[in-house]
Amino acid sequence: MTFPLERVRKDFPLLSREVNGQPLAYLDSAASAQKPRQVIECEMDFYQYGYAAVHRGIHTLSVEATEKMEAVRAQAAAFINAASAEEIIFVKGSTEGINLVANTFGRTALKAGDRIIITEMEHHANIVPWQMLAQERGLHLDVWYLTEKGELDRDQLATLITPQTKLLAITHVSNVLGTVNPLDVIIPQAKAAGLKVLVDGAQAVMHQSVDVQALDCDFYVFSGHKLYGPTGIGILYGKAALLEEMPPWEGGGSMIRQVSLTEGTTFVQPPWRFEAGSPNTAGIMGLGAAMDYVSALGLDNIHRYEQALMSYALEALAHVPDLTIYGPEIRAGVIAFNLGQHHAYDVGSFLDQYGIAIRTGHHCAMPLMSFYGVPAMCRASLAMYNTREEVDRLVAGLQRIHRLLG
Ligand SMILES: *Cc1c(COP(=O)(O)O)cnc(C)c1O
Repeated sequence: MTFPLERVRKDFPLLSREVNGQPLAYLDSAASAQKPRQVIECEMDFYQYGYAAVHRGIHTLSVEATEKMEAVRAQAAAFINAASAEEIIFVKGSTEGINLVANTFGRTALKAGDRIIITEMEHHANIVPWQMLAQERGLHLDVWYLTEKGELDRDQLATLITPQTKLLAITHVSNVLGTVNPLDVIIPQAKAAGLKVLVDGAQAVMHQSVDVQALDCDFYVFSGHKLYGPTGIGILYGKAALLEEMPPWEGGGSMIRQVSLTEGTTFVQPPWRFEAGSPNTAGIMGLGAAMDYVSALGLDNIHRYEQALMSYALEALAHVPDLTIYGPEIRAGVIAFNLGQHHAYDVGSFLDQYGIAIRTGHHCAMPLMSFYGVPAMCRASLAMYNTREEVDRLVAGLQRIHRLLG
């Protein structure tokens, strides 16, 4: 099947905008993706015709909204092939999902002296919660370092695992380098040593299909807004047996069974135990529409289209003088680079004048910037709605900046 690029682009109203007098080339989807009208209309439709509080009422609207919300939970389970909908927790995003695991699983299953392995390519969201927990509980963090190519040094894992090591927290796809970690071999190695494995899937779920049962990870997180869905909603997957043992994190409504001022409180079962307070219902509906959208296109088709576009882009960028590209040959979604000695902010500002939106800065991955010895990088993202023409404009823009600035 040829990828229906034109139809897809028409579904994203914002892509037809002009910026600085130029057609927009939106190459920043790894920071946050644009939304198709199917997602926008789904949220609007919920607010206009279906809105009510969930989980509380017996009136029709409330029952309908609750049913829809639970249908999206089942849909999310199917989306990543979880064994059941009860393994799906609605969170704000990947960040909150990881913090939830650190504060529940981390606080009960880990004790002073235990060790956690993280990698050098983690987003701050998969570093800082573990550092905070380590400080509070006397745990140790071990870092799995990278090779010059921006891949994990495969022999290192065995040397990092000790009898005290309890958890591996690892990204599926690097948000800076685009490195796709070979979880199919990494996770079995970690599990054989008795580790639990948390996977940060924030940069993976929009580029390839994910099967948490095949991966055999214990936790998997992703964010709606990077999957063409709304902001403020994401998914934490956890294996049922683990969730069962985890205490609640936030307390409040919807997560209790009985509350007594004198005898304390008992909690409902997972996943609702971890969803205190009123959820982001419109966001949940929108996330459902976003998963429908990419599923209808087929993640395998999206993957094939994006991989071809990536090859085209890497070849085209080779024609820009003094351009350093970071990361491995095989990658998903992003191309991080620097132009000569110019600061990424200058390059990004020039490109913005040409209507080209890229990311500049440390990309919430300061340890990775240190590894390459740079304060910042430019990052162009390639999403399913990006075109070869947009890549050509990026290349032409960089060539022009090189001519202007030297
Ligand atoms: C964006 C991102 C996060 C954080 O996601 P939020 O939606 O901001 O919570 C975590 N990890 C990776 C790899 C990311 O790209």
